[in-house]
Amino acid sequence: MKLTYFGTAAAEGWPALYCHCDSCKSAWELGGKNIRTRSQALVNEDLLLDFPPDTFLHMLYGGLKLDPVTDVLITHAHEDHFYVEDLANRQPGYIPVRAPHVLNLHGNNRVREIYEECAKIPYNRDLPSVVAMHEIQEYQPVQIGRYTVYPMLADHNTAEKCYIYAIADDEGKMLLYAHDTGYLREDVWAFIKEQGFRFDLVSLDCNHGKEEASRNHMGMDCCSRVKERLIAEGFTKPETKFMVNHFSHNCRYLNHDEIVEAASKYGFDVSYDGKSVEV
Ligand SMILES: [Zn+2]
Ligand SMILES: [Zn+2]
Ligand SMILES: [Zn+2]
Repeated sequence: MKLTYFGTAAAEGWPALYCHCDSCKSAWELGGKNIRTRSQALVNEDLLLDFPPDTFLHMLYGGLKLDPVTDVLITHAHEDHFYVEDLANRQPGYIPVRAPHVLNLHGNNRVREIYEECAKIPYNRDLPSVVAMHEIQEYQPVQIGRYTVYPMLADHNTAEKCYIYAIADDEGKMLLYAHDTGYLREDVWAFIKEQGFRFDLVSLDCNHGKEEASRNHMGMDCCSRVKERLIAEGFTKPETKFMVNHFSHNCRYLNHDEIVEAASKYGFDVSYDGKSVEV
């Protein structure tokens, strides 16, 4: 299983729109891995995680190939994770050569509502013929192509049921993708135990970086507590890879290298836009 990160920032991006903080200044100066766009990742070539407004940017400059993508799994409806208007561009009126297949969109009830609101607009009436919406429920596994996907509840925006995902492929590899969330909820821990999951790859939300935070998002310390508990409860393997991802410019680290230095003490590898990790 290969996970490729295309966007690794929080909603503002890093450097952030309008911002002149030291972390943003540093990103402008250093460039490269210090430039982070809005959250998106790809499992192998076909399962896309989230659909932010930067999807277009990822296609243009990040090497994201959209044609092989058959399914898009949305974590929650925050605009840095779900920008439905760009899915409407898949309609025949916008692209004269019809897309090769119907794109399957999977998400919570809020994602479905936003999709339906978009499809109600007269010029978006063909949306359902090119993008099919599938509402998924917490703790009810769904088969998506060659993946079994287990939606679990995040500790995030209480106005909707935000999901983190356990994703198993048909070769026995399993990913825990936990963005955006605070410290994992006790019902998540119980579900992982009941299902007997053993993750090969764990990607944790490190939005707050150096700051102590365990609700809505996590900081590095909190990510470390999740990692240690996953290991202690037997939910990992000796070769499991642990990643931290989804960084805000407000995380109080100045640049990528600082994050790498801090993360290495906890046994984490650090995402950047374009980073691939294989298990
Ligand atoms: Zn986010
Ligand atoms: Zn800033
Ligand atoms: Zn969010």
